[in-house]
Amino acid sequence: MAEKGRKRCSFCGRTEDQVALLIAGMTGHICNECVEQAHTILREAEMLPKSDFELSELPKPKEIKAFLDEYVIGQDEAKCALAVSVYNHYKRLMQNGAANDVEIEKSNIIMVGSTGTGKTLLARTIARLLEVPFTIVDATVLTEAGYVGEDIESILTRLLQVADYDVEKAERGIVFIDEIDKIARKSDNPSITRDVSGEGVQQGLLKLLEGSVVNVPPQGGRKHPDQKMIAVNTKNILFICGGAFDGIEKKIAQRLNTHVVGYNSVQNSQKIDKGDMMRYIAPQDLRSFGLIPEIVGRLPILTSLRPLDREALRRILTEPKNSIIKQYVKLMEMDGVKLSFDAATLDYIVDTAVEYKLGARGLRSIVETIMMDKMFEVPSNGAKSCKITKDYARKQVEKNISLAGI
Ligand code: ADP
Repeated sequence: MAEKGRKRCSFCGRTEDQVALLIAGMTGHICNECVEQAHTILREAEMLPKSDFELSELPKPKEIKAFLDEYVIGQDEAKCALAVSVYNHYKRLMQNGAANDVEIEKSNIIMVGSTGTGKTLLARTIARLLEVPFTIVDATVLTEAGYVGEDIESILTRLLQVADYDVEKAERGIVFIDEIDKIARKSDNPSITRDVSGEGVQQGLLKLLEGSVVNVPPQGGRKHPDQKMIAVNTKNILFICGGAFDGIEKKIAQRLNTHVVGYNSVQNSQKIDKGDMMRYIAPQDLRSFGLIPEIVGRLPILTSLRPLDREALRRILTEPKNSIIKQYVKLMEMDGVKLSFDAATLDYIVDTAVEYKLGARGLRSIVETIMMDKMFEVPSNGAKSCKITKDYARKQVEKNISLAGI
């Protein structure tokens, strides 16, 4: 009568030793295979809870790009790469858990471009539109465990925070790692002495990029023996990296030169745009710069940003939805004052930014310098309009040249 005491699946009748798992209920049992079958029935009847989003409701790559266009001038290549990457990230998330024959791997992305060309702005803008938790972290705060600085796992602390500590939500998020170039190895040869800001941090980062379960300090900072860690699986987290990679143009030029030796070298060198070497960037340049090959391999989408020329700066001043000029017009409008800038004034602002090599970031400080006195006076002097001429602008800039740090 040993048979009598044996537990069976109440659905298919199989005994405990015939199945992998038998789950006990109040009055019966169910085996893992019957659970799976029930799951399939529910899916076919479309009775399973839907994932948080439907692909049809999500913005398509073209729509993402159009949204970015509203805030970021130019940089089409990077915009397209980002749009596709984010859209594919959603697709992967939707596929997760469903029975699949083709598993979509994630495509982390790296954006390379001089400082002030819009990398962080792109990341911030895309964040406005995302359906998943998103955070920006700075790679410069990281150093190897045991040295001063934050542990690599703290990259995920912010993500957990924006996901309200909902681990499952955080595990589908997107992390933008800014200044990734700062953790590059300083020299080409793997050093004999340990370099704090180099390979160790990259090895740690690699673990995150590859996808693994890491223990994250919920409050960030350094690991602390008393701090309770939260386990986060990074398998589905999308990583977007950005960096200026100062001096990488030299590596690119070196590579191109060595390649163009040969019978068609003259033809090739004629085609190369020497003013913008960054556009020819290839994964091996990141390696010569000091990123370990495994990291480069885990960032399969490599895109570069163009330097901003005079025309781009002029557009940045007025065109984006929240351009600096539009912001000042709005500020004055709230006091009932109509603010306007002469076209010559705008050109002057751009010329100053170019002259002092301030780039796009400088536009704001120049406009602030020009506007400071007016912002102080106009709200109390009863004016209904305020026009900024080039002469006035020049006077203000010249007066404050040391104050503004320009
Ligand atoms: P990076 O991260 O590449 O160093 P940022 O994205 O922080 O540069 O850019 C600095 C500032 O310059 C931004 O806040 C923005 O005001 C302006 N800016 C830079 N590039 C662009 C661009 N392509 N379009 C519009 N504004 C830009």
